[in-house]
Amino acid sequence: MLSFFGRESVSKVTAPMGKALVKTGLTPDAVTVIGTVASVAGAVTLFPSGHLFWGTIFIWFFVMFDMLDGAMARARGGGTRYGAVLDATCDRVADGAIFAGLAWWAVYHENSKWLLVATLICLVTSQVISYAKARAEASGLTADGGWIERPDRLIIVLVGSGLTGMGLPWAIHIAMWVLAAGSIVTVFQRVLAVRNSPGARELLPIAPAASTVEGASKTDGEPETDGEAEQ
Ligand code: MG
Repeated sequence: MLSFFGRESVSKVTAPMGKALVKTGLTPDAVTVIGTVASVAGAVTLFPSGHLFWGTIFIWFFVMFDMLDGAMARARGGGTRYGAVLDATCDRVADGAIFAGLAWWAVYHENSKWLLVATLICLVTSQVISYAKARAEASGLTADGGWIERPDRLIIVLVGSGLTGMGLPWAIHIAMWVLAAGSIVTVFQRVLAVRNSPGARELLPIAPAASTVEGASKTDGEPETDGEAEQ
């Protein structure tokens, strides 16, 4: 949803930061890993122990840090395919940890089954939304867009957890249900986008059984995304 606001305005801010980080000798892949490890560590310690406000601040900082890998790659003249896959994989790990930490908090601090339900919906759909896009691209199709992409997801959940950490107990409930509903719609939007992709419903030739796996991999394209592409 936020991609409506354009990536250019974002890169005006991130480009100089990316350049500065490259000068420190860090690689984009290192920034991806550091950002992810720190985000996960914060999510699985600060949220479960009830520190919603500081957990939000800590995770926000490292999620933003992790988003500089794309700007760094551009400052170095381009990213690698490995970097793009590493980045997308790490994003899934970080998202999973954030919802897992909040699920723990929902059960052991809030004792709220309904908040747990919403959080688990967010946990699963956050993975499915990005998988649908990645798998579609691997088959040469597209599944772009939809209401909830990663920046939307992070803003909604972290605004909710931050406000609840500041003393508004209902904020996380609203945020999580808005996100759960929006994410379910997004899964359908992406599957529909795949269905409407050119060639999506053409019959594939049946490969001989022995070479099915090999044949399938030959038809798979490589998703071309840079380090900052949001899924
Ligand atoms: Mg990243």
